[in-house]
Amino acid sequence: MVNDSINKIKTISILVPTPSPVPYSYALRADQTAGPGSIVQVPLGPRQVSGLVVEDLPDAKPIDPAKLREVTQVFDCPPITPDMLRFIDWVAKYTLSAPGMVARMVLRSPTAFDPEPPTKGIVATGTQPERLTDARRRVMEQVAEEPQMAWTRSGLAHATGVTTSVIDGLTKQNVFSEIEIPARPIVAKPDPSFGEPELIGDQRDVAEGLAATVSEQKFSVTLLEGVTGSGKTEVYFEAIAAAINQGKQVLVLLPEIALTQVFLERFHDRFGAEPAPWHSDLAPRTRERVWRQVTEGQVQVVAGARSALYLPFQNLGLIIVDEEHDAAYKQEDRVFYNARDMAVVRAHLGGYPVILASATPSVETRHNAQEGRYKYERLDRRYADAALPTLKAIDMRKSPPQRGGFISPALIEAMQETLERGEQSLLFLNRRGYAPLTLCRACGHRFECSNCSAWLVEHRFRKQLVCHHCGHNEHVPESCPECGTFDHLVACGPGIERIAEETLSHFPDARIIVLSSDMTGGVKRLRLEMDAIAKGEADIVIGTQLVAKGHNFPNMTMVGVVDSDLGLANGDPRAAERTFQLLSQVTGRAGRTGKKSIGLLQTFQPEHPVMQAIISGDMDAFYEKQIDERERGKMPPFGRLASLIISAATRLEAEQHGRALRGAAPIAKDVMVLGPAEAPIAMVRGRHRFRILVHGDPRTNIQAYLREMIGKAPRPRGSVKVQIDVDPQSFL
Ligand code: ADP
Ligand code: ZN
Repeated sequence: MVNDSINKIKTISILVPTPSPVPYSYALRADQTAGPGSIVQVPLGPRQVSGLVVEDLPDAKPIDPAKLREVTQVFDCPPITPDMLRFIDWVAKYTLSAPGMVARMVLRSPTAFDPEPPTKGIVATGTQPERLTDARRRVMEQVAEEPQMAWTRSGLAHATGVTTSVIDGLTKQNVFSEIEIPARPIVAKPDPSFGEPELIGDQRDVAEGLAATVSEQKFSVTLLEGVTGSGKTEVYFEAIAAAINQGKQVLVLLPEIALTQVFLERFHDRFGAEPAPWHSDLAPRTRERVWRQVTEGQVQVVAGARSALYLPFQNLGLIIVDEEHDAAYKQEDRVFYNARDMAVVRAHLGGYPVILASATPSVETRHNAQEGRYKYERLDRRYADAALPTLKAIDMRKSPPQRGGFISPALIEAMQETLERGEQSLLFLNRRGYAPLTLCRACGHRFECSNCSAWLVEHRFRKQLVCHHCGHNEHVPESCPECGTFDHLVACGPGIERIAEETLSHFPDARIIVLSSDMTGGVKRLRLEMDAIAKGEADIVIGTQLVAKGHNFPNMTMVGVVDSDLGLANGDPRAAERTFQLLSQVTGRAGRTGKKSIGLLQTFQPEHPVMQAIISGDMDAFYEKQIDERERGKMPPFGRLASLIISAATRLEAEQHGRALRGAAPIAKDVMVLGPAEAPIAMVRGRHRFRILVHGDPRTNIQAYLREMIGKAPRPRGSVKVQIDVDPQSFL
């Protein structure tokens, strides 16, 4: 053992992916160097895992390194910056997650921890081959076009249609020599003066204000509010330009992967190069290279989904959160966090500005801006004076659709007129598939998921019944599985496939495109379809949420919302706000290029405040009322909320543990605990669910309260699991 204590000279603290609330201790050998921020590989039980070296806890007792397991390897990677380490710690404490699980989100690209090896390549030496075969001639002709160019073996073989053995033969004869090609940057450097726009009116003032804020390089939050098409993107590009000019890295968060591509292209027009993309759909190799080049500082701008917030930037100087109100920023899995809020925290810890952009900000953000806690910049008009669409409600009680249909005569007429003008219509319904419920007319049997409390949604194109919670699917049977009657199954309610069918029956010659996230072909196909629509290759577009966001369809002048009331009924405290945001966004797709446009909202409650706000366009009044309601109900930002979601294999276990948790809730005069109550979606993936809601004053330290409550309660046993959701968005 003498040897061991000589070799293991130091104890260090490392975050590993476990539920432990504190880092683990490991021994560092004399030949290894690592400090806070270093990325290492360590043994954990029988496995090897990635870990992140952090400062020792101030009250940690010294441990003899001889008693510890050794760090296997210290990666050749720039250390994670101190502000990022503080960010990891902050997120862990705020969300009541294990710091190792937060660190895990940073360490998602293990293959990028070592530098990219240079690619082996070949280059022509000028020597001619001894004997010219047909294949060899093709290779030589190709090379002659650009004699200095470096090729990979397979690249050259592919380009000339020969096998690599032909290339290898030539290399043996000295026609090529082998070289190392250095790793190429994944994107070129953006040039802030590449495509400077001519900003007009308010745009100029707002852009100047943002650029000045960025140049200060200290923490601030700005709400950039402006109707769809007012030039928010155009304007925050100027803030990005200012950050690039200062040599800073920039992160742009976008809510939807499908939006990234459009954004990359637009960014390219402005800066002559694309930003690096970051989302779950990236090819592994691209992902690994982006991660590496971000941490090496080679990549200056990243545009990505919420997980991009955990990229190891070295020199971040600006974060932009586009569509800041979007629910997609909330992660509800393992670590429950809102990327919008955490972006503000990250900027605060790093000491630089963050810009939140939206046409319909969240009530929280709007309130902060009005109270002067955030800077507030507004663009009140559409660019080029393009008029916003004229919005009208269609009262479905007075103008009902034909029997069996869902589209009212008024909407059909508007589509007809749009078609006649050679312009495009959009029908929006936030529901995938053909019908949300299938039942048997003979016995009343409803098709439900066997794992979830949810109806199975018919997808007629795929001939399947699908659960939208767990993905379970089955063939549509010919007879009822309950009573055996044939031909008595009926589809109840519409999904977009059914709306497409109805539309086709009215407009058999129209070119119709149906867009939803479950379309086969993924993001690529979606992009092609979007491009086709933008080019005018469709007359009628039928889509879900996906089409509501960010796309510019120049010829789209009519938007019809099939069911405007859909989001209002679900008992969510944010239902009104969300519906307002979604409907504003969807109708905002119309009239982007100045043509006269309309938005028609099919509703059974035209008098509802949300419909009134949309139609009158009086946003300020709507927000005022929402803020007022929140204040009276002590809802955020006038109160604090946290949910505990208790799930288990049996209903009894889940309920019992929920009761035990409730029993452990400390008495506090500023906190109210509600539940346990069976969750509205009582079962998901075979697990029974209960919820507890903790509601506190704005000044309540809700984390401390939850920690105490969970600490006092018995540990979850057996199949029981407790998830903690601070600032919940979903109550299902
Ligand atoms: P928003 O982000 O607010 O929806 P955009 O920045 O996308 O608005 O602008 C809407 C459209 O108007 C885009 O096609 C954009 O290129 C164009 N646009 C806005 N401002 C200008 C400008 N100053 N010069 C040229 N085009 C502009
Ligand atoms: Zn299911």
